[in-house]
Amino acid sequence: MTKLLVANWKMNKNAKECFDFFEEFKLKFSGKRSAWIAPQAIHLNLVINEGKKCNVMAGVQNCSEFLSGAYTGEISPRNVKELNGHFVILGHSERRQYFQETSKHLNAKVKTALKEDLKVIYCVGETLPERESNQTLSIVGDQIQQGLNDMSEATADNLIVAYEPVWAIGTGKTATPAQAQEVHAFIRAELKKKFPAFGEKIQLLYGGSVKPDNVEELLGQKDIDGGLVGGASLKASDFLALCGDK
Ligand code: PEP
Repeated sequence: MTKLLVANWKMNKNAKECFDFFEEFKLKFSGKRSAWIAPQAIHLNLVINEGKKCNVMAGVQNCSEFLSGAYTGEISPRNVKELNGHFVILGHSERRQYFQETSKHLNAKVKTALKEDLKVIYCVGETLPERESNQTLSIVGDQIQQGLNDMSEATADNLIVAYEPVWAIGTGKTATPAQAQEVHAFIRAELKKKFPAFGEKIQLLYGGSVKPDNVEELLGQKDIDGGLVGGASLKASDFLALCGDK
């Protein structure tokens, strides 16, 4: 399976900075690993157009469980798809923490986005106190069960799961490859139980301080199919290195 690197630019980069990134990125990107970018939603069209020139897919960092209507400030998954957006990240820990998104609420978003034929990157992960009290697998297991509840096996084809330990996001602390692999193997087993025909094929991304100097070891783990990257995706040279293009 081709490894997938997904850039989560969060609320960073103005329009010029987006263009500048692509000016540099497109010179060296070979496509040996897939690269997707989620800019702020206001730059989605820009990133779709620049991405087309170098085979990079664009998506959003969140969307609504509704398709249209009186939902001020929300992003319609249908309109993301209409623009040729490729994917949506759902359940990022910053959304769970700062915007009170729960796995139950995320379940509605996941189902709607999949129905609209977007790829969904559903994020799960434990906090530091949860890890220290040996609750990692039960927390991640609950997030999988609730967030992916009652989904048809057919829609699982477009599903990607990202394991992002909250204590590793933006902190410079990375899970060791063994810690990450242990949770990925657990997620794989849960997905196989839920979706017998697709569980084995669902891509599992690791996220949490992925950098050029730790990416190879992480991607070398059996159940790690790629990375979801914040900080190290902002500089074209770093993201190129993660994509294997130094
Ligand atoms: C993220 O926000 O999804 C993330 C993994 O951030 P960072 O790479 O900066 O830890």
